[in-house]
Amino acid sequence: MLNTLKMKSFMITTEEKSMSDTQMTLDFNHTELIRYKTCTQCKKYFLLDETNFNRNRGSTTGFASMCKSCDGERSRRYKKDPKNEEKIKASMSAYFSSERGFITNRISTIFKPSRLKKRKGANTFWIPECTKEDIWELLFLHIEKMKEKFKGSDGRICSYCEKPWTYTFKGYKTLNKGFTKRKWGSTVRSNFSIDRLDTTMTYRKDNIVFCCSGCNDEKKAVTFKLCKKILEIKEERDYENKYETL
Ligand SMILES: [Zn+2]
Ligand SMILES: [Zn+2]
Repeated sequence: MLNTLKMKSFMITTEEKSMSDTQMTLDFNHTELIRYKTCTQCKKYFLLDETNFNRNRGSTTGFASMCKSCDGERSRRYKKDPKNEEKIKASMSAYFSSERGFITNRISTIFKPSRLKKRKGANTFWIPECTKEDIWELLFLHIEKMKEKFKGSDGRICSYCEKPWTYTFKGYKTLNKGFTKRKWGSTVRSNFSIDRLDTTMTYRKDNIVFCCSGCNDEKKAVTFKLCKKILEIKEERDYENKYETL
């Protein structure tokens, strides 16, 4: 039985390379039957799919050689080993300073379950009324719009101050047992940030503004009503001042 499976598994992996979508459909029953794979670590047989194996685009099968649980075990061991601490820090730092890594994390903060569970009050939370994909899409539109507005720029520009934003990753808190935790550079005022235009409303496609942390921080929870009032008073004062000097 195992030998047959191995043979078939070999057949499908060599065939897969040249298989077009149409052939995949035609061979569907055939492929479904034989897509099994043995884990190189625990030697157990699994159905070759995302529930049992991590994706690995570089491999012939498109999946990792170890099953998910062996892979997980290996990475846990790797992370625990103090020998690897510096290497982990370096690769985390590279990822979180990259645009993709930085933004992915900013977005996931908005969707964090721990955050969603919080009660209203001092730490008011907002359950987003859009998806992560919606935010990425809006971001691409923002970048395109800014590229148009500021010719020659890369479009990574704050909506409020219209200065370029950054992706500076501040570093780590090292906890005991060699476990490292990300520490966000909340004090980096030029860093990318996601704001809610109307602060009385949650993250919605029509309420998201991309900006820098500094502007987000300055704006805080200011409402439209308050903004209007500030401008009204300013106008009044200007008028009074003008009147007084006459
Ligand atoms: Zn395994
Ligand atoms: Zn700004």
